[in-house]
Amino acid sequence: MGDIISLLPDHVANQIAAGEVIQRPASVIKELLENAIDAKATEIKLLINGAGKTIIQVIDNGIGMSITDVRLAFERHATSKIKSAEDLFSITSKGFRGEALASIAAIAQVEVYTRRAVDEMATYLKISGSKVEGQEAYVAPVGTSIAVKNLFYNVPARRNFLKSDKVELRHIIDEFHRVALTHPEVKFTFMQNGTELFDLPSVNFKKRIANIFGHKIEEKLIPADEMTTVAGIKGFIVKPEFAKKSRGQQFFFVNKRFIKSPFLNHAVSSAFEGLLRDQFHPGYFFSIQIDPKTIDINIHPTKTEIKFEEEQNLYAIIKSMVKHSLGMFQATPVLDFERDPNLDIPYNFQLKPPSNMPSIEVDSSFNPFQNTENGISKASKSSWESLYSGLETPNELSKTDEELKLAIEQTPKVFQLLTKFIVTTTRSGLLIIDQQRAHQRVLYEKFLSSITKRDMVSQQLIFPKEIELTPQQVALFGELEANLNSMGFVVKKNGNLLHITGIPSICDDKQLGQLFEDIFSTQDDQLQLASFSQADYMAKILSKSLSIKSNSNLNILEQQALIDDLFACKDTLTSPFNRKIFINLDKEELEKKLD
Ligand code: ADP
Ligand code: MG
Repeated sequence: MGDIISLLPDHVANQIAAGEVIQRPASVIKELLENAIDAKATEIKLLINGAGKTIIQVIDNGIGMSITDVRLAFERHATSKIKSAEDLFSITSKGFRGEALASIAAIAQVEVYTRRAVDEMATYLKISGSKVEGQEAYVAPVGTSIAVKNLFYNVPARRNFLKSDKVELRHIIDEFHRVALTHPEVKFTFMQNGTELFDLPSVNFKKRIANIFGHKIEEKLIPADEMTTVAGIKGFIVKPEFAKKSRGQQFFFVNKRFIKSPFLNHAVSSAFEGLLRDQFHPGYFFSIQIDPKTIDINIHPTKTEIKFEEEQNLYAIIKSMVKHSLGMFQATPVLDFERDPNLDIPYNFQLKPPSNMPSIEVDSSFNPFQNTENGISKASKSSWESLYSGLETPNELSKTDEELKLAIEQTPKVFQLLTKFIVTTTRSGLLIIDQQRAHQRVLYEKFLSSITKRDMVSQQLIFPKEIELTPQQVALFGELEANLNSMGFVVKKNGNLLHITGIPSICDDKQLGQLFEDIFSTQDDQLQLASFSQADYMAKILSKSLSIKSNSNLNILEQQALIDDLFACKDTLTSPFNRKIFINLDKEELEKKLD
């Protein structure tokens, strides 16, 4: 048998390499934007069509390339940014691997116009699937324009692997945020299908944060700076009371490069300890300057993870810096659980079996969704009072033992456990119900049916609410509007302001701010993918956002109503997010456990 090993042709090698560098349109955008920054551009335009699947174009006013350089730029391992291995330890540019353009040209159709200030004419170059298809002199301004068309046109498997336009667009916006945040001095514009998503003037870091995340964020930021021999840190934390449930506002930049670091994130979180409610995450924007010799950015091909030599020190510095800022600006906890004191049943009374069980009597005309808050049916005032009446007449307790025993055996007992579970007796044992998941299920079915039937009842807000939208939220709103209407929201968009004048009757206006934040959250890809339709997705988001959470006290009537509502659902076993809602401990099992 002859020899069987041969060298791969360049275009095949490039295609394989591309798999590492370019996963999706957002990766192309990251590489092109970073190249423009490295080329010292002061103004960068990003244009995309079809969520980057059809066209991505980046236009910069940077240094441009010569006729020969532009050809070399598309060769693998061709870079102007390092010359030797030592240079790897003092990298100040974004790129250095010389792989991006070669990779992109291997899996797309690329057209470049580029001109240096010293040249009279620009060069035009066209490459598809690593093959040069044309090069000529052209009239164009100084700088570089690169258009990348039909990404993965020659790798159908990868093209099919791309997600919906909406998901891809979110990735693109995330990458855009990261580059734009690190370079506030650079002017950026971003057009999507001919509509402007961002127009960011050249400003400082704080203003850039505001231009991206909405102007209201400026008042929520507290500066946090620290200069040590290990590193210099400049940035902002978001006041604890404005923390979010998503992690969308957590940014570490090291030497102007976005990085992910669970370790350093932990340093910030631990400084916030005790100041945040469950499931809320601190927001922060930190730019860290550190000697390139003390870091290794080479461990990940897409370069979002790095190694620090002085990791432990950096952790301590960040933690104490954040603590200090929180203290300086007296960002003391404003933990406000808005607990209604009426919800608390006096301790002694809780132990007493209700003498007359008002909520269990069946009232066929009772509409559980009328006059409700939290979507949990509220019992009428009179039944409330009758529950309390036993308090005022303690002699009620003097019922005979016989009578009491009878009541206990005939009526299911319900109580709340650890402010997280509702426990109820059944004929054969007991059920332990997770209150949050049960309520999610109830709300989910309610919203889903109202979207399908378009029959949700709205309540008018006495004080209409206004929410400022970021440009990408404005774009997203267009897609969500119809479903929001059929769920009972009365909303109108005016420029970038959303006017809310009506909300579904099972929603509380106090929850509105959080609710819209959750609806517009750009982080929920997983949920998006797991949903079989836009309506399903919306119903899930709403049920998640509006549901009673663990740590909420429910009074006995609310507990009872939740159980009734749950067992009126089509699916009583699992939450909309596929979690078990309750466990059933029956006699047999109990006996087995006690064996
Ligand atoms: P790297 O950025 O790692 O060097 P790339 O493949 O991204 O590798 O780019 C190769 C080279 O092409 C760069 O080193 C740079 O010299 C040149 N180049 C790429 N984009 C631009 C641009 N927008 N303006 C000027 N030169 C560019
Ligand atoms: Mg590059």
